[in-house]
Amino acid sequence: MTDLSASQGKARVLVIDDEEEIAELFRDVLTIAGFAVTAASRPAEIIALIDQSLACFDIVVLDLSMPGFDGVEVMRRLAARGCEARLVLVSGFDRKVLDGARELATRYGLSVGGCLEKPIRSVALVDMLRRLPQTGQREAAPALALAPEDLARGLAAGELVVHYQPMVTLADGQWVGIEALARWQHPEQGLIGPQHFIPLAEASGLSSALTLTVLESVVADLRHVNGSLGFHGAVSVNLSPSALTDLRLPELIVERLQRHGDLGCRIRFEITETSVPANQTMALDILTRLRLAGYALSIDDFGTGHSTMDNLRRLPIQELKIDRGFVQEAESDSRARVIVESSAALARDLGLTVVAEGVETMAAWRWLKSIGVDIAQGYLIARPMPIIQLAGWHAAWTATDRASAG
Ligand code: C2E
Ligand code: CA
Ligand code: CA
Repeated sequence: MTDLSASQGKARVLVIDDEEEIAELFRDVLTIAGFAVTAASRPAEIIALIDQSLACFDIVVLDLSMPGFDGVEVMRRLAARGCEARLVLVSGFDRKVLDGARELATRYGLSVGGCLEKPIRSVALVDMLRRLPQTGQREAAPALALAPEDLARGLAAGELVVHYQPMVTLADGQWVGIEALARWQHPEQGLIGPQHFIPLAEASGLSSALTLTVLESVVADLRHVNGSLGFHGAVSVNLSPSALTDLRLPELIVERLQRHGDLGCRIRFEITETSVPANQTMALDILTRLRLAGYALSIDDFGTGHSTMDNLRRLPIQELKIDRGFVQEAESDSRARVIVESSAALARDLGLTVVAEGVETMAAWRWLKSIGVDIAQGYLIARPMPIIQLAGWHAAWTATDRASAG
């Protein structure tokens, strides 16, 4: 066993495999590749590590088929101990078993970074682990103690800021859009991500106020950089489900934006499938009026909702964004790959622009391009950033191969 305290900034990996030779082989390969590795084969050793040292690991590589002590039991134990590490599942069984185990792990609240079928090539293992985001970069964060009054005050005090993430065409890397993503610059808590305050806005009737505040920031930001940015593409703004229950919203939006003629017609609203339940006449009313006012509509997180097909048929949308969960899993999961391919084909046949979110690797970029996805958004291109950084990003982007050769 390695010394758990001696990771010195390296990602810390726990390898669990009942076959000692394999556990040792993985340990050696990963150690050479620069990870701090602990390998465990015996049940007592595995239990002790999980119960006492789980917080010491960023990644757990788990063999699912271990006689007498199976991988599912280990997963359950990891979940019970609040495991925050990324899980890499390994199995000698076929892909379906791995896919089922991945689903189970996700339901247990574990974060699965990938799956590998045995026999495993060392390079595939190293490659997968290198591409895993560190646990510290994960989006899920502990709940913050925020009250609705706090948010109302923050909105009024101008503490809401907007970061922008570029979207580019897969064909030739052209910069065609930005998505406006809200952040809250809290005076005590620092910069807070939307996962903490969007649900609060939803629960406390502040969704429309938040939407209007975001729009105002977008207008102000784009004005501020004006000619210097040279960007004339679409600006996507997220609408949360409860914004689609406020019948005044279209009027309020039109009122805010009509003074900014040119910009107004570049705004595109993103809605999630779950925001528009089948019987939601009100949402359809609001979306139809937004569309009539000239704004484009995009269906976000496609594939995760319940009334997918029905929404495609009923809603006046122009764009479909394939959820980043599918895009990211497509690399290792054949079923996710089929879902992305079918979604892209479906959108194309319906005459919609297809956007893939969560594009993090060159492999994903090439594959998405090959299956006819139009636009890419994701960390490979850029992370969300303050408006003033966009010009610098664009200059660097146009100098890359992707931008020039696509
Ligand atoms: P979303 O609309 O799906 O936005 C994309 C999220 O994915 C953003 O997270 C973005 O930072 C992240 N992302 C982009 N590319 C990648 C990638 O390559 N890898 C990974 N792992 N993540 C990537 P963010 O900014 O934290 O926003 C989270 C969610 O919060 C958004 O999901 C959206 O549902 C909501 N949200 C953000 N701003 C607003 C807003 O102004 N209004 C409303 N109603 N919701 C908002
Ligand atoms: Ca979105
Ligand atoms: Ca999305």
